[in-house]
Amino acid sequence: MNDQQTPPAGRGATPLASCKEAARLMSRQQDTPLSDAESESLKQHLYTCLSCRRFDDQLLFLRKLARRYAEGGAD
Ligand SMILES: [Zn+2]
Repeated sequence: MNDQQTPPAGRGATPLASCKEAARLMSRQQDTPLSDAESESLKQHLYTCLSCRRFDDQLLFLRKLARRYAEGGAD
């Protein structure tokens, strides 16, 4: 199995994430903190990409809900 690996800051000076990459980073950061380079390229992508920003908003919202639910006392 060789899973595709993210090329480390591949081509060009600014490693801008694609939408697909951005989505992957956004969902991954729910579980694992991103590296500096990753969060930077995600941030830059979000800065320029409205649809990904919306997606990020939704993830944040869901996470907040989930957390509130967990803390708020199931049982
Ligand atoms: Zn995007």
